[in-house]
Amino acid sequence: MNIDWGEGSIDRDEMGRKMHALIGEMYPLCRSITGAGFRETLSMVSRRIPLDIHEVPTGTPVFDWTVPKEWNIRDAYVKNGAGERVIDFRKSNLHVVSYSIPVEATLSLKELKTHLFTLPEQPDRIPYRTAYYQETWGFCLSHQELLKMEEDRYKVRIDSSLEPGNLTYGECYLSGEEEHEILISCHACHPSLCNDNLSGVAMVTFLAKHLSAQPNRRYSYRFLFIPGTIGSITWLSLNEDRVHRIRHGLVAACLGDPGRMTYKKTRRGDAEIDKAVTHVLQHSGQDYEILDFSPYGYDERQYGSPGFNLPVGCLMRTPYGRYPEYHTSADDLAFVSPASLADSFMQYLAVLRVLENNRTYVNLNPKCEPQLGRRGLYRLMGGDREAGFDQMSMLWVLNLSDGGHTLLDIAERSGRPFAAIRRAATALQDSGLLQTADNGNLLNG
Ligand code: ZN
Repeated sequence: MNIDWGEGSIDRDEMGRKMHALIGEMYPLCRSITGAGFRETLSMVSRRIPLDIHEVPTGTPVFDWTVPKEWNIRDAYVKNGAGERVIDFRKSNLHVVSYSIPVEATLSLKELKTHLFTLPEQPDRIPYRTAYYQETWGFCLSHQELLKMEEDRYKVRIDSSLEPGNLTYGECYLSGEEEHEILISCHACHPSLCNDNLSGVAMVTFLAKHLSAQPNRRYSYRFLFIPGTIGSITWLSLNEDRVHRIRHGLVAACLGDPGRMTYKKTRRGDAEIDKAVTHVLQHSGQDYEILDFSPYGYDERQYGSPGFNLPVGCLMRTPYGRYPEYHTSADDLAFVSPASLADSFMQYLAVLRVLENNRTYVNLNPKCEPQLGRRGLYRLMGGDREAGFDQMSMLWVLNLSDGGHTLLDIAERSGRPFAAIRRAATALQDSGLLQTADNGNLLNG
């Protein structure tokens, strides 16, 4: 059984434009790990895919953590003595340190400066800063703007609230032939930042939409839209009894920048997802990089904590912290392109297609090579270009189909593309030379 999902008919330009347009829609919202901006973002996603929205009350214990108070903000500014807004939340939500407590005060420049954050080495950019777990406040601004500020009496106001409420997350579940799941997780907790956060949200949304329209899926899929760190900790805490179903997983982030694809391996390092992504990138015809797991980065840290050790890697373009626009106002709509988003989407789809079709077979004629000509298999390989595989692929499949090698193992060992190996296996199965070894594993639960 082959799962194809009509990748050939995807209009990449249109797909890229749609993802970029969704990013543009979400960009102005002031998101944080809780609050109205996060909910509004989920409602934009839910207009495109079926999404269950979960609300987890403040104070809920989640392993060693506690669901925090809910933060909401309406307005914030710093006014000079003349009453002019010299720092204005309405112009950019990055101006306010996320989770700032409400403030109303008049301060000297010296006093104010202890609450101001800039990037002296990138003087025209506003930094992105958070203060999630300490009750404080602050403003971010470009270093150029800071240098312009003179001694004055500054009126500071942050119209925010930090109160008991909920942590919100979204979950899209698509059932497949198996209860085994593929988990795709993205964080949606950053304000106006495109590559870090919104590129992942948009790509995952359209991936879920594409998969939901397919008639056949072997795996079930779970797409998570969560606040970083506390979101995955909360989800794992509430779903501990279900995580054994997760067979493969990817954290999606940083998918719209112009850089090459980068894959950060799972904690295990040799999981099937690690092999599948490596194979797809090797055969993508593009430059790429593979990184080993490290306990830093996005939510793969939580999925890969020792108590779970889930096979979840992180497939991105340029990794967090490795591009100068990262966590600054320059991570904007111009930094992410429809072409990069579309390319990322296609790479994800290619990985999923490998996983969906990665089966183990047994050669039913294992004593010496079978006579291929008698079964019309030479004709398939020679004259029929549609067959899409070559003699070597067929010989490799026959030789390694001993019940101990998956098609991906065979593709890896032979250096041939997975698609050719899979087509050869299908032809051999059709002619009665091959039988699946893993049909019995279609377990329930
Ligand atoms: Zn970030």
